[in-house]
Order: sequence, then structure tokens, then C-alpha cells
Amino acid sequence: MSASVVEISGLAKSFGEVEVLRDIDLTVNRSEVVCLIGPSGSGKSTLLRCINFLEPYNRGTVKINGRTIGYIDRDGARRPMPARQLRQERRNIGMVFQQFNLWPHMTATENVAEPLIRVKGAGKAAAMARAGELLDRVGLSARAKAFPSALSGGQQQRVAIARALSMDPDLMLFDEPTSALDPELVGEVLEVMRDLARDGMTMVVVTHEMGFAANAADRVAFLDGGRIVQFGTPQEVLKESTEPRVQQFLKTYH
Ligand code: ADP
Ligand code: MG
Repeated sequence: MSASVVEISGLAKSFGEVEVLRDIDLTVNRSEVVCLIGPSGSGKSTLLRCINFLEPYNRGTVKINGRTIGYIDRDGARRPMPARQLRQERRNIGMVFQQFNLWPHMTATENVAEPLIRVKGAGKAAAMARAGELLDRVGLSARAKAFPSALSGGQQQRVAIARALSMDPDLMLFDEPTSALDPELVGEVLEVMRDLARDGMTMVVVTHEMGFAANAADRVAFLDGGRIVQFGTPQEVLKESTEPRVQQFLKTYH
């Protein structure tokens, strides 16, 4: 297996005339946690979405486990990958959004079991059993039969994480997973993410939680204006940066 799970090189992305990502090179090694930080509009979400090709890009390549995702290059031309092949590649990648997007008419267990049944073709009993284990992993065994409306935001987000884990992904992408939560519920979600990291999950996390970036990330990428301005250890980026844009950004957190 390839040592790097994510390998992005020369990535550029425009929306119409506006270039929102430029010259992005980023490698994420197996079991590494990389946090993407930076001002609003700097391109963090777009970059994350390029990794699983939710967002098509204009130039460059994205490889997951050594395989190109999204495009097929042949005879000097580039074509989008057939939908079926893209779905296959995406199964390795779990994604958690700011909004939890749980199915409201299903219990917590059913929310986690559903992709196992639909995508992996698991039988109902096996899927429900596996869902139970995953809910246990995010500390929600006691709420297995609850519907989303009866769960707190933090609990809903933990169900969403369990649901993403049900595909046994090699890589988890998080886009501001705690930004929609009341402050007192942020900690429980970050704790589940720390557990995942400790278990060796490879993770790319867009976050404004500087404490999490400081103590859970292996490396931190600071984006501004669609570029990675600095990429280094939390110490290098969050403590010792001499880059004015990084310093300016961090000031708003003190
Ligand atoms: P961040 O997540 O860092 O706040 P985004 O990746 O969401 O930044 O956005 C980067 C830039 O791309 C912003 O200028 C934003 O307005 C623009 N943008 C994002 N999504 C779209 C879209 N679907 N259409 C047009 N512009 C977009
Ligand atoms: Mg964003």
C-alpha cells in the first residue's frame, strides 16, 4: 500500500473566472491528521471537496492510495471518470459536514446501518449489528434507538461520524464538524475525532478549533487566497510562524 493516502499536486480550481485554488501541493501520509485552517473564503472547503471529487477541478491531480480520483488521463486528454468508477473510489473516503444530514425518519442505528445495506449490500441483521458497534465507538450505545430529533447536535454529529465509518474508509474528511454546535457540545465531537486519530485513521480536518489543531494535528496547512501559505507542524504554524498572514489570522483567536 502507498505510504501517502492523499497526494495532491498542482491543483487549481476556478469558479467561472474566479480562481479559488492555485498551485496546491499537499500530501497526507497514512495515519496522519492534517488540519486545514485559514480565513473564511480562503478555499478550505473547496480543497476538501476536491479530494473526493465532489468538486471538479481545472488542473492538477488528486491521488488516493496512489490511484487518481475523478479524472482519467489518456492520450494527452483528460476525461471525468465514469460515475460507477468514481463511486467505487469514493467508498474509501468518509466525509462529515458541518450539517449532520441524518435521515430524520430513521433511528440512530438505522442511519448508520443504511449505507451498509444500500452500498455494501449487507443484510439487515448484520448491518444493524455493525451499526451498534459503531455507535458504541462514538459513545452512543445508549441512544441507539433514538431519532435524530431527540438527539443533541453533538450526538447527531457523532452518529454522522459513525455513519461515515460504516464504509470502513481509509480516509476521513471533516468540514468544520463542530461549527454548527452549541459551545458546550463541541468537546464531545472533538473527543471522538481524537479517538479516531489515536486509532490510526488518516484525517483531513477543516476547523476553526485551534486547540484541536494544536494538539491533535500532525501537520497544519494555512490557506489564504486559494494557496497553501504555510504547511508544517502545529508548533511551526501555530506557535512559531513568521508569516504575517498566519500571525494576523491567529490574532483573531486570542
Ligand atoms: P472556505 O471554506 O475557506 O471558507 P470556500 O472553499 O468555501 O472557502 O470558498 C473559496 C472561494 O470560492 C470563496 O471566494 C467562495 O465564495 C468561492 N466559492 C465557493 N463555492 C462556490 C460555488 N459553488 N460557486 C462560486 N464560488 C464559490
Ligand atoms: Mg468552508
